[in-house]
Amino acid sequence: MKTIGMLGGMSWESTATYYQLLNQGIKKRLGGLHSAKIYLHSVDFAEIESLQRQGEWSTMANMLTTEAQKMQQSGADFLVICTNTMHKVAPEIEEKLDIPVLHIADALANVLLADGVSRVGLLGTRFTMEQDFYKTRLSQKHGIEVVVPSENERNLVHEVIYEELCRGVIKESSRQAYVQIINSLSEQGAQAVILGCTEISLLVKPENTALPLYDTTAIHAEAAVSMALS
Ligand code: GLU
Repeated sequence: MKTIGMLGGMSWESTATYYQLLNQGIKKRLGGLHSAKIYLHSVDFAEIESLQRQGEWSTMANMLTTEAQKMQQSGADFLVICTNTMHKVAPEIEEKLDIPVLHIADALANVLLADGVSRVGLLGTRFTMEQDFYKTRLSQKHGIEVVVPSENERNLVHEVIYEELCRGVIKESSRQAYVQIINSLSEQGAQAVILGCTEISLLVKPENTALPLYDTTAIHAEAAVSMALS
């Protein structure tokens, strides 16, 4: 079994889910007392959030690269960056590593394509919904068309992530607001919706909506389990 290097803490609320899913996945495949081999570096998310707001992406790339290199040196065989947003700096991190980065958007695209989804809604942070690093990877590399919510809706989705979900706060009113946004993505022709922030699955569950949901935390963790056992 390969050893997984996890860059976590962004936020720890979803890293806890990743940790659980990785171990459950290995146990399911190997049985008995088997569990995942993991190195985890967990950051202080307050530092990351502040740097994100200031647009200091190269500072964050350097910070995360340093920690990833330490895990590589310790024996991690590949890297899992436990957040969609910070994949903005995945190319910079990967460039300075000898081990591969299991990109969350590639893991997601494989599942979408296998299910025949070619037009999909995207919920995530403003960075993920508005910038090119994620949407363009899905469209240009994988041929998947991405629909994003309106500006007001994007602001709401973003605020709920940082003010509530990353703080462990789950509100019914926010769940309803998200479901409404999912419905409007469906009206725009989305066949399914990407939960493109690793905390959203803490709020919105498949039973809350008729549209299929693609939870990036679960998909990324499952891809990591397969890679660890390949
Ligand atoms: N975990 C979130 C994501 O998947 C947001 C937190 C972050 O900015 O990394 O995008």
